[in-house]
Amino acid sequence: MLDLAIIGGGPAGLTAGLYATRGGLKDVIMFEKGMPGGQITLSSEIENYPGVEEVKTGMELMESWPRQCMRFGLVHKMEEVSRISQNSDKSFKVHTTGGKEYDAHSVLVCTGGRPKKAGFKGEDEFFGRGVSTCATCDGFFYKGKEVVVLGGGDTALEEALYLANICTKVYLVHRRDKFRASPATVERVKRSDKIEIILDSVVEEVKGDAGGVTAVVVARRDGEEKREISVPGIFTFVGYDVNNQVLFQESGEPLCALNEFGEVIVDLNMNTSVEGLFAAGDLRINAPKQVVCAAGDGATAAIGVISYCEKVKDH
Ligand code: FAD
Ligand code: NAP
Repeated sequence: MLDLAIIGGGPAGLTAGLYATRGGLKDVIMFEKGMPGGQITLSSEIENYPGVEEVKTGMELMESWPRQCMRFGLVHKMEEVSRISQNSDKSFKVHTTGGKEYDAHSVLVCTGGRPKKAGFKGEDEFFGRGVSTCATCDGFFYKGKEVVVLGGGDTALEEALYLANICTKVYLVHRRDKFRASPATVERVKRSDKIEIILDSVVEEVKGDAGGVTAVVVARRDGEEKREISVPGIFTFVGYDVNNQVLFQESGEPLCALNEFGEVIVDLNMNTSVEGLFAAGDLRINAPKQVVCAAGDGATAAIGVISYCEKVKDH
């Protein structure tokens, strides 16, 4: 029986592994279907991880994390988890897609998530080179420049306001004539003299060169007008999917409570609604979706797991 099974080897899972093993837990396995590091390894630049002064690629930032954890006994299994279920004695079973099963006193789910794609031409080609899904991460790179924001929900409008504080101008493109975002946020956007709202319009294409994005082609949905906006960046906020599939049981019900967006409901100690089951990082409610926050969550969860394991093993 494992003390702890960690599902996901991004910043949350790795940090949890470090704290759990260094804190004395003996049998801790981190199930990561790929190489450890998480989604930040897709990023070509990260400059907001505290203590790391130079701008690094995500891959460079994460490179040493697995080695540091494994020094204290964390085991990485390169296996994809299909499901987590609970045994009759309240311990857990981790099922892998390869058909293996592992029992564990506690489980920490930190499988992250992914922003949805908008589907315009050039989105993949220029991702990380002018196409971004994270204003907190990349907004600073556009200080004093103009950018396009795509989307009409709360995230798009809040991030447009955030970018308007950094950039000289924000073109906010939305496909309908009404925003989905809350009325108060819409009012703030309308009051901003740095945001130009472009409604009933879609992004058809981003154009660029070896240096990255140079222009965004925006077309009215009625076909009346097409304009090419010269900008070095476009931020897309068209929704977010969390990787919560491992929590769903054969009955179709989730193992623990989720909110309406499928995010795992946790308390400040990363406890879910099921004792012994923890969640951390981008898949939890109200996640700031930053490496430093995911790492902090992982540490918090591991500290809780250590107390939990002491309690269950004493009985
Ligand atoms: P993730 O990093 O998503 O890790 C989850 C891991 O779980 C993945 O490795 C995945 O393979 C694994 N996994 C999922 N399902 C399973 C399964 N069923 N079985 C086994 N393994 C599984 N943050 C910043 O702070 N600064 C930045 O500049 C920044 N830039 C970014 C740029 C890009 C392009 C992206 C995509 C993100 C960026 N972020 C940035 C956000 C940051 O990467 C995330 O907030 C952070 O990685 C979340 O960590 P996590 O551990 O919660 O999840
Ligand atoms: P969202 O509410 O689903 O909005 C996504 C937006 O993207 C919608 O306006 C949608 O247009 C548009 N869109 C979707 N696919 C598109 C595509 N392919 N091309 C162009 N546009 C596309 O997502 P979200 O803004 O990330 O918010 C998710 C949830 O979190 C929401 O319930 C939101 O209220 C909540 N949230 C709350 C706060 C807050 O309370 N402060 C902050 C952020 C998020 P349509 O409108 O036409 O569908």
